[in-house]
Amino acid sequence: MSRNLEVYDKDNVCKEFQEQVSKSLIRHKSVLDIITKLDEFNARINRAVAKSVTSCGCISIHAEKQEFDGKSYEELTDKVKTHLHGTICENCKDILEIEIGDYLFYLAALCNTLELDLFEILSQEHDRNKTLGIFSLK
Ligand SMILES: [Zn+2]
Repeated sequence: MSRNLEVYDKDNVCKEFQEQVSKSLIRHKSVLDIITKLDEFNARINRAVAKSVTSCGCISIHAEKQEFDGKSYEELTDKVKTHLHGTICENCKDILEIEIGDYLFYLAALCNTLELDLFEILSQEHDRNKTLGIFSLK
């Protein structure tokens, strides 16, 4: 998998990505194709995580009820679990990166279609989370 982001101007990577997506999106240019492709690739990401557990076995999931009540922020950050055990292997990581990349492609396509700026959305969300701090817990 290529990791040549350093050749991009990091301040413009979202803009360049959106422009490239715009140039290469022909067959699925309808907003209906874009939003259903987003669903498809969301499902493919979830499927890749599931296959990492059920086929590869590099990770496993041991889930149980999360206890939030009466806990401080510090306790929550220590006690709330991901339920994941193990480390994702290079093969599963490569597959997930491809699926997430395809998802990002259609997310950028949706932004293009609706004339939204992906970088602006990312920046606004980052600022909101930074400003709200622990009050933005999701
Ligand atoms: Zn694996």
